[in-house]
Amino acid sequence: MTKQEEIREGIEGAIESVMDFDPLTLEWEVIDSKKATEAVRQYLHSKGVVIKVECPKCHGIGIFYRGEPIEERCGRCKGTGYVEVVPLV
Ligand SMILES: [Zn+2]
Repeated sequence: MTKQEEIREGIEGAIESVMDFDPLTLEWEVIDSKKATEAVRQYLHSKGVVIKVECPKCHGIGIFYRGEPIEERCGRCKGTGYVEVVPLV
């Protein structure tokens, strides 16, 4: 199982953990979307998921244009396109 498949299954599990039985439709549903969102957010945080902060100089492309057609690798982010990663929460 890849990391992506593991996280997909984990998200499904987090959502299923907050599903409630709806007596009107007689089905298990996500009735409280805020509860489901929090369960997914906590799961992703537990897996170390982070947010990449886009480089303000190159706007995430890793290349800095010094006037057309001259382009060079962005020095601020060293060509990665982002300057830091921050926790999800
Ligand atoms: Zn950059």
